[in-house]
Amino acid sequence: MNLAGYDGILFDLDDTLMDHTGASIKGLDSWCQELGLPTGQYQRWAEIEFKWVSRYERGDLSHPQQRRERAKEFTGQLHLTDEQATKLYDGFIRGYQAHWAAFDNAIPTIHTALAAGKKVGILTNGAREMQEGKVRAGDLVIDGVELIPLVEYDAPKPRPGAYSLGCEIIGTAPERTVMIGDNWLNDVEAPRQAGLKGVYFYQGLANQPKPQPADQEVITSLSQLVFSA
Ligand SMILES: [Mg+2]
Repeated sequence: MNLAGYDGILFDLDDTLMDHTGASIKGLDSWCQELGLPTGQYQRWAEIEFKWVSRYERGDLSHPQQRRERAKEFTGQLHLTDEQATKLYDGFIRGYQAHWAAFDNAIPTIHTALAAGKKVGILTNGAREMQEGKVRAGDLVIDGVELIPLVEYDAPKPRPGAYSLGCEIIGTAPERTVMIGDNWLNDVEAPRQAGLKGVYFYQGLANQPKPQPADQEVITSLSQLVFSA
C-alpha cells in the first residue's frame, strides 16, 4: 500500500508495533502458574480484556478500574477490594512485561516512514508509564516519533478527539494523515469518520473482524507499507 501522498502516519502500539498478544499469552501463563491456575487460558483472558477495555473506552469506568475488573473476573474473586485487585493485576503485568517485544518489521517500517519525510506518531490508549516502558523494551524510542498516550488526555480512541489530538501533536491535517492499527473500530472506522485514512492491520487475532472484501485499505504485514513514490 502506497502512502506517499500523506504527510503523517499514526501507528497504534499494541498488536501493531508491539506483539501484545504474544506477550499476553506468555505473561498470562506465568501469572497462572504463580496463582496455581491452569495455563493456556488466553482466549478467556482476551474476551474479558476486550469487554472491560471497551467499557473504559465508552467512558463507563476509569482506566485503573478496568484493570481491577479484569483481574477479578478472570480469577473469579469478585469480592476483592480495589487494593487487593490492583495487587492481583500487578502479577499479570509482571509476566506481560517480561515478554514485551516489537514485531520484527516495526523498527524498519518506522525508519522508512521517517526517511520519506513523514511525521510519525504512536497513538495508543494505554497509560503513559506502561506504554513508555513498552516502547523502550521494543527499541521503539526513535528520534522524531511522538508517543501519544491518550489516557492522560482523557480522549481514548475511538472518541473523535483522539484523532484530532494525534494530528495536532504530529502537526498534520487529518485528511493528510493515516492511522494504522489492528483494532477495526479504534484504528480504522473511527479515524475514517474523523477524516483520516484508516488502514486495517489484519492478523486474524481474537476480536479482529474479517476485513470487508471491497476494502482496499487493509494490510497483513507492516512490510506492505510503502511511504515514497
Ligand atoms: Mg492495538
